[in-house]
Amino acid sequence: MALSRLLPRLQPRPEPLSEPVEEEPAAPVEDSPRLQAVPEPGPAPEPEGALMANVIVFANQKGGVAKTTTTLNLGVALRELGHRVLVIDLDPQGNLTMSQGMNPDAIDRSMFDVLVHRVPISDVIKTVEVDVAVASIDLAGAELALSALIGRERALEKALVEVRDRYDYILIDTPPSLGLLTINAFVAADAVIVPVQCEYLSLRGLVQLENTLAMVRENLNPRVHVQGIVPTMYDGRTLHAREAIEILEEHFGDLVYNTRIRKTVRYAEAPVKGSSVLKYEPSGPAAQAYRDLAKEVVLDGAQARDDA
Ligand code: ADP
Ligand code: MG
Repeated sequence: MALSRLLPRLQPRPEPLSEPVEEEPAAPVEDSPRLQAVPEPGPAPEPEGALMANVIVFANQKGGVAKTTTTLNLGVALRELGHRVLVIDLDPQGNLTMSQGMNPDAIDRSMFDVLVHRVPISDVIKTVEVDVAVASIDLAGAELALSALIGRERALEKALVEVRDRYDYILIDTPPSLGLLTINAFVAADAVIVPVQCEYLSLRGLVQLENTLAMVRENLNPRVHVQGIVPTMYDGRTLHAREAIEILEEHFGDLVYNTRIRKTVRYAEAPVKGSSVLKYEPSGPAAQAYRDLAKEVVLDGAQARDDA
């Protein structure tokens, strides 16, 4: 179910969303100058006949909600299930890159070069527990550098053409904003998974995210949708956390995954060792939580393909 269908209960919209139309030039959007008005070169061509990766973005403009933790650990859990997985670090902070034991300050070519200089993405992929397309600190300049380019919203989509038939899942970690890097991820994606911290639940933040996504759907990528919401940092002992889940389920129904990612220091310990929690403590409950989530995500994807 599309998140947008549930949103009127949160924030009534004066205009219903129009049906997405492919290949129309981007319509001017009042409050987001970055999305306005360059001639839109159209979607990147895909190689025919090959089996294409399922491209999933992890987004929430709030920081500290477990986007990076979820991207990596879900990626490793999907790898354990036998899938071919690429994770992409699209956050200038480089936390995903660091959490696989690499130093973003010591990397010479990164997603910055892929997006801005059209370096093939395979040149910045390092194989660790999964394949990682790395970030470096200069990615912070990517939004500015991209904003001057034609097709600035499609740079990542174009870069992925080279590798879409080499992976089953491509998971993209995004910065805590809805800027041009996150828009690039939405344009390249089939689906979005939203990690939500049970402690500081922000429904307003989710509405903003969905509005941005609706804009992308109308102008740039009609297929992108919210596939699921992952409750993170859940502490079942507190009434507050249980209420947060109730509110999420009341507003978003089936979009909320059954797996709750509980609060535990294991998730903070593992990246210090440069590893996922599945490698750090393979038989612990923290690892199991992401294995459970991986099964839900795989089923979800199968359902989406059946419905298509
Ligand atoms: P984001 O990418 O959304 O900013 P992170 O994945 O970096 O969030 O997580 C923020 C911090 O919280 C990190 O230090 C991480 O190790 C920690 N963390 C993530 N998930 C959990 C959890 N379930 N329980 C406790 N701490 C967590
Ligand atoms: Mg992060």
